[in-house]
Parts: sequence; C-alpha cells; structure tokens
Amino acid sequence: MAVPKKKMSKSRVGMRRSHDFIKPVSINTCKNCGEACLPHNICKFCNTYNGRNVKAIAVDLMS
Ligand SMILES: [Zn+2]
Repeated sequence: MAVPKKKMSKSRVGMRRSHDFIKPVSINTCKNCGEACLPHNICKFCNTYNGRNVKAIAVDLMS
C-alpha cells in the first residue's frame, strides 16, 4: 500500500482544496423574450441566438 512520506501541511491541503468549490451556473436573460437561458446557447423558449431566429435559418437550409 502506498504510504505518504510526509504529513501534508494545512497550507498544502488548503491549496489543493482551493479548486474544489462548485462554481455557480451563470444564467443570461434572452434578448428576444427575456427568459432565463444559458450563455452561448440557443434560447429554448423562442429559438433565437443573439436576437436572431436561428431555428428558421436551419429549416431554410434543410429544405
Ligand atoms: Zn428567448
């Protein structure tokens, strides 16, 4: 079994745990409908991205 050679200092433990916290999820409000949506994602309420209707463009390209 691997055994640590030295006792880890409180400082060292703290340095490791400085990255352990969970970041809060950032939420943007949609420019078009004002609903809460994730940044860099299409608004799932009105299918727009940065104020443009993205789903309509995708449907036009497919047909
Ligand atoms: Zn929207």
